[in-house]
Amino acid sequence: MNQQTAPTPSVIPAKPIPIPSDLARPFWVALQRKELHLQRCDACGFFNHPPRISCPRCHGHAFTWTQVTPEGTVYSYTIVHRPPVPAFKSEVPYAVALVDITGTNVRLLSNLLAAKEELRVGLQVEIVFDDVNQDITLFRFKPKSADNTAGSR
Ligand SMILES: [Zn+2]
Repeated sequence: MNQQTAPTPSVIPAKPIPIPSDLARPFWVALQRKELHLQRCDACGFFNHPPRISCPRCHGHAFTWTQVTPEGTVYSYTIVHRPPVPAFKSEVPYAVALVDITGTNVRLLSNLLAAKEELRVGLQVEIVFDDVNQDITLFRFKPKSADNTAGSR
């Protein structure tokens, strides 16, 4: 046989999508409503993220899902040049940041949608809600605008 191997089709693979656990479901449901909710210990007020079955600070077992302000301060960031999986190949380079969420002890990790020149530790950011499908909304960060009308005209 002289059959040549067909070239691999250039199919763009799908990006991985989170599968919420029962414990974390309220976090994901709140994101669909464009809100940020975190699990907070009823006994000591500590915010857990990711959510847990017992508080790491006081070992309490009672929690309340609490809405928090969807903004924060960049603790650290990096620029990704090598895609972690092929699905992100067309996205590189992109910035990823650890953000201290205002009024909580929680530090979240996600994309930081900002120009390279804007990136810095201490940058004030807000959450952008991204409906990736009908079941999952992701959160990403963008620089907080001091005046929402600035630069829009
Ligand atoms: Zn606690």
